[in-house]
Amino acid sequence: MTAVSSSPERASDQGVPSAPAPHERARPLAKGSAKPAKDLCSDCGLCDSRWVAYVRQACAFLNQRFEAMETAAHGRARDQSNEDELYFGVSQRMLSARLQPAIEGAQWSGIVSRIGVRALETGLVDAVLCVQQSPHDRFTPVPVLARTPEQVLAARVNKPTLSPNLEVLEQLPGSGIRRLLAIGVGCQVQALRAVQASLPLDQLYVLGLPCVDNVSRAGLQTFLESASASPATVVHYEFMQDFRIHFRHSDGHSETLPFFGLDTPALKNVFAPSCLSCFDYVNGGADLVVGYMGASFGRQWLTVRNPRGQELLDLVEAELDVGEVASSGDRRAAVQQGIGAYDQALKLPRWLAELVGFLVQRIGPKGLEYGRFSIDSHFTRNAIWLRRNHPEKAEQHIPSFAKTIISRYRLPTL
Ligand SMILES: Cc1cc2nc3c(=O)[nH]c(=O)nc-3n(C[C@H](O)[C@H](O)[C@H](O)COP(=O)(O)OP(=O)(O)OC[C@H]3O[C@@H](n4cnc5c(N)ncnc54)[C@H](O)[C@@H]3O)c2cc1C
Ligand code: SF4
Ligand code: SF4
Repeated sequence: MTAVSSSPERASDQGVPSAPAPHERARPLAKGSAKPAKDLCSDCGLCDSRWVAYVRQACAFLNQRFEAMETAAHGRARDQSNEDELYFGVSQRMLSARLQPAIEGAQWSGIVSRIGVRALETGLVDAVLCVQQSPHDRFTPVPVLARTPEQVLAARVNKPTLSPNLEVLEQLPGSGIRRLLAIGVGCQVQALRAVQASLPLDQLYVLGLPCVDNVSRAGLQTFLESASASPATVVHYEFMQDFRIHFRHSDGHSETLPFFGLDTPALKNVFAPSCLSCFDYVNGGADLVVGYMGASFGRQWLTVRNPRGQELLDLVEAELDVGEVASSGDRRAAVQQGIGAYDQALKLPRWLAELVGFLVQRIGPKGLEYGRFSIDSHFTRNAIWLRRNHPEKAEQHIPSFAKTIISRYRLPTL
């Protein structure tokens, strides 16, 4: 294990110009070695770079620092008295959108990839941190520092597995990259923000994805085998706003399954422990977040958190079909019922799952209310999991905004 510092500031910032900063003396952890966050490690990649020197302060699972992160990134922490900010984080603008024309093979319409391409084409950045896939396995992530639009496009579509994105920070020194756009999920962004001041960069833009229920590659196999009729041919899937999982297969055919038809007992342990203890669903530290769950079916949902986020959106806004975000329905009874059903690991027969799915799709929450449904369901489940499995961590690890949300529901006894 390398020497570990408590601060990412450069030694020269502290008036000791000759002493090398901690990361200048550190080495990445050996591949396969135990990580400081142990079973909670999300494999964000920081430990695979010399910035492991700051892991105790930077790791999302060793040090919860939402308020400090939001304040440093956006100039203020989220306003918890504002219901939208309580749920969706610091926001200066929220919209729904679709890229026109869509990028073929992207997860949704390809807004994220298009921003990456435009950021390179316009010279806003020298490189884009994104995730390509292994030539041998569509779902094995390969993080890269993309220097060309083609390399960014090769990273389109989700790799729905834990991805060591920050390992490529190791390639920054000597690369000539001074301006970087980093695309990533919440745990990666938390660690990146914590070491940002010590990176050899003049400018960092962060384009975030919302993220929940991620899995290891082995866990993904269990999920696909339990949920799809043809697990070997799945090339793309998404939990959509119509309360169904949509699978696309290599021969082009689609398959859907209502959320309520999932084999909950078989899947209870499939999600990574990191993701069962994660409260950064909406990627609070990113400049701009591009997801889908606050938008109507088929559209994407964007949250601009600060002026750098608007700069990123400016790169593509003329190519977007932009709309307002809407909200309807009332999620609360459904969330409360779901807490009990999940805890008892209930599995509905397919006909009943289809019926419940049909009814919820008709009268259930939509738009931002669907987003709140998903956040409430995951935060309550994760709080129970964390309090049962890591009671010593729960109090410090659950951020105050999540505690407020969780306190609105009755949780089972531990
Ligand atoms: C694991 C995961 C879970 C998600 N869950 C939700 C959710 O619950 N609700 C929601 O609203 N949105 C979620 N998203 C985001 C959403 O699915 C889309 O990725 C997003 O809307 C962008 O779509 P796009 O067509 O613009 O992306 P594309 O243009 O297809 O680009 C996708 C980008 O994702 C990056 N990426 C792919 N896999 C990973 C990974 N494992 N880690 C980090 N970066 C990756 C790639 O580098 C690429 O740049 C999730 C994304 C991921 C990766
Ligand atoms: S989550 Fe990241 S920073 Fe934390 S232990 Fe794992 S690799 Fe290291
Ligand atoms: S759910 Fe949270 S911990 Fe898991 S990969 Fe996504 S952001 Fe990271």
